[in-house]
Amino acid sequence: MEEMKITVLDNACIFRDGKFHYGHLIIAGKYIEKVGSGSFENDSGSSEEMEYHDLNGKMILPGFANTHTHSPMVVFRGLEDFAPLSKWLRKVLKREAKLNSDSVYWFTLLAQMEMASKGITTFGDMYFHLDSMAKAVNEFGMKALLTRGLVDMDGNGRNRLMENLRELSLSGDRVRIGLGPHAPYTCSKEYLEEISNIAKSEGVKVMIHLLESPEEREDYTLRDLVETGIFETDLIGVHLVQVDEDDLRILKDYDVGIALCPVSNAKLWNGFPPVDRMMNMGLKLSVGTDGAASNNSLDVWKEFNYMALVARIVNEKFDVYALFSESFENGARILGFEDTGKIEEGYRADLTIVDSGKVSYFPNVPDRLISHILFSGNSGDVFATMVDGVWIYYDGNFPTVDENEIKRNALKEFERLEGWV
Ligand SMILES: [Zn+2]
Repeated sequence: MEEMKITVLDNACIFRDGKFHYGHLIIAGKYIEKVGSGSFENDSGSSEEMEYHDLNGKMILPGFANTHTHSPMVVFRGLEDFAPLSKWLRKVLKREAKLNSDSVYWFTLLAQMEMASKGITTFGDMYFHLDSMAKAVNEFGMKALLTRGLVDMDGNGRNRLMENLRELSLSGDRVRIGLGPHAPYTCSKEYLEEISNIAKSEGVKVMIHLLESPEEREDYTLRDLVETGIFETDLIGVHLVQVDEDDLRILKDYDVGIALCPVSNAKLWNGFPPVDRMMNMGLKLSVGTDGAASNNSLDVWKEFNYMALVARIVNEKFDVYALFSESFENGARILGFEDTGKIEEGYRADLTIVDSGKVSYFPNVPDRLISHILFSGNSGDVFATMVDGVWIYYDGNFPTVDENEIKRNALKEFERLEGWV
């Protein structure tokens, strides 16, 4: 039998229960075996292979969850920053039609490089060619809930749904497959009902965009959707910007997991979600970036910083420290991963290491570190990211993949989509 790899992360500032504590972690295989206080002392006398890291005061956080994105859309980043939605969509759709399983594979790898370098270990996605995406996630080593974007406006809804159903078999330990009805304005009620029935019988997650824009608000309310059964599924509602009290009540009553994407909402001129009201009601909140075509980065740090500042402008008084502290576990649960999002013995070793030795973290004392992360630091301070005990990002490198090969192939696919080759 192969010996289990032991990794020791020593002299760290560990984030647990909303606070930082000085200590060390022992990781055995995929799991956190021990959360110790003070420095590590090797008294086991064990001859097992041990990887030792003196973190010299760096912070260890649970891995960040990006609960909503469209990874392969990294190739549409910066395509149209200010065009009206219709023009933007025309340009995107023209290129999306040329995407194939190869391009989706390389772009999903590229997106994971970006996310891992920003401390993200787990993400929720809605796109297509899920087989290529699952392959990319398995090879890179992140965790993901992948849903197939489902639309029936063009008469092809059934084919897409059948494809999504076949893809359910791709589910495994680190990759989960769910159903992804795009939005109430691109899916008929009958289609949403069919999707809901299947999701309930298969016991899989559903991800849908809800009440993102002011125009959408004029089209429907959440109460209009209750009869489709969508809220009886294990649902992740994305955006929820244009909501009223009745919508919030429905989200609470049906225990809907919520993925807030505030930077994308701002960039597309859709407003700011009522975060304080949502938190006071005890809704299950998490943070997503949405795709790079509308954000334009896959950086959850930016979401928190932006939310904390804009809340003051729009007079939302929510506790951003609490939202930040809860987002790790909430994010993992919302995506269907049970034993991660927390630094606790027996949990998966899904971790982010942040270099709090940088001058922007001075004075580097435990009770100011959340403030420093939210208001002074940025995602460039991430030193390393680990999933299931394996480094997927370490000091500027991506140990599980060939960085140059991914960049080369992504560029080749980009040039093909643009019609340059
Ligand atoms: Zn989206």
